Amino acid sequence: MICPSCSYSNLEHIRYCGRCRMAFSKQNLFLARLRDHLYWILRRSNGGFMAGVVAWFFIPALSRALASHGSPLLHFFTTGLLGGAFLGTVDGMLEESTPKTIRGAMMGGLGGALGGLLFVWLGFNVSDSPFWGLFMFWAIAGAGIGVVSAMWEKKKTKILAGVLLGALGGGVGGALGYSMYGLLMQEYDPGGWFLRRLYEGFSGGIIGVTLWFAIGVAERFVIFKRRPIEDPNKKHCDHCATNNPISSWYCRACGSVLQEAAAAQNLHLSPYTTLDRLQEMFRYLSRLSITTGFIAGLIVFLVFLSINPIFAFIAAILVALVSYSLLILFSSAAESIRIFIKTDK
Ligand SMILES: [Zn+2]
Ligand SMILES: [Zn+2]
Repeated sequence: MICPSCSYSNLEHIRYCGRCRMAFSKQNLFLARLRDHLYWILRRSNGGFMAGVVAWFFIPALSRALASHGSPLLHFFTTGLLGGAFLGTVDGMLEESTPKTIRGAMMGGLGGALGGLLFVWLGFNVSDSPFWGLFMFWAIAGAGIGVVSAMWEKKKTKILAGVLLGALGGGVGGALGYSMYGLLMQEYDPGGWFLRRLYEGFSGGIIGVTLWFAIGVAERFVIFKRRPIEDPNKKHCDHCATNNPISSWYCRACGSVLQEAAAAQNLHLSPYTTLDRLQEMFRYLSRLSITTGFIAGLIVFLVFLSINPIFAFIAAILVALVSYSLLILFSSAAESIRIFIKTDK
């Protein structure tokens, strides 16, 4: 039994921690579990916030440039497509799973594009936007993103939880983020181009944090619910009966999600939990840089193509160079932290 207060490794079935005297009562253990749930959900929310800020920093401006000839349909379609794609990558980037990142981007982009089309088709407009219009717009994107987090589990209740909480989080986040932006512009319009981008980035951050808080709750309490492991040395696959190492999440033979959870003390996790989290954050930021470079480079190329193909090519290369530099910067920060983390494996 690892003490939730001081991390001292105690024997099983005891009443007090031998190091800090925390009583292992039902209430104390419940509070400790609650803290772990909260940390887990906050990590998702934090990832959502960062992705939202980065995405909304340039997406609304680019969508306006793309739709400069006055088509609101094109404007909201592009905003939904790109914004949804960005927000959808959060889970995959946090889990460092490229297949999940790509699926998230595709489903999020699809949902966002559909939401944007419906938004215009139903006659809504951001400047005199009713709450429900923006809610519906980003609820559709959120539902698409929520599906991805549950689809590999292949259970109806889990997929339903992902869809419902994704829709709720996306809808509330979209309505909140845009009304916050409207309010800020009304009260303190900063005037400058860069400051307006920061305002828009902040509104995207609100969408991201709300969406991923909701999906985080669904994942922690429904989607990623696991039963305790039977054999402490291997995880058994429900689908094909293959035995897998206890640190794996997916079956190596059939790709199914492993439904057993190993006890934390058997996983040889690093004792440096805070440095570990900091390292994870830098790794997340390095993945975010590359995702941004990929999406932004593609849009910049398309925007400038009609003006001058050579200029479009150079601009796309510049975006790629900047995102590559950021990737190197954040990865090296993550690696420097790793030097200080000794694992006793
Ligand atoms: Zn203790
Ligand atoms: Zn299997």
